Amino acid sequence: MAHGPAWLDAMVGTIRCASCGAMYARADLRIAGEREGYVFVHCACGACRKEGIAVVLTELATALREHTGGIDALFSAEGRRL
Ligand SMILES: [Zn+2]
Repeated sequence: MAHGPAWLDAMVGTIRCASCGAMYARADLRIAGEREGYVFVHCACGACRKEGIAVVLTELATALREHTGGIDALFSAEGRRL
């Protein structure tokens, strides 16, 4: 059983292998490292074995998850959080 943050579990079923187009399974993903708000996720395709790196902006993901207003509010002066 793989362990990791909830956002990593949430990536399953949303990103595909750039080589063969297969959806990544949870076991295909592992965190390779983190730096300045970016998390690098190592992806090894279970179908074709091609490896790649996904870059995740965890601060952005957190801000979007907590945001309750419209899309315009994300980028307006008073609603600027990102
Ligand atoms: Zn693949």
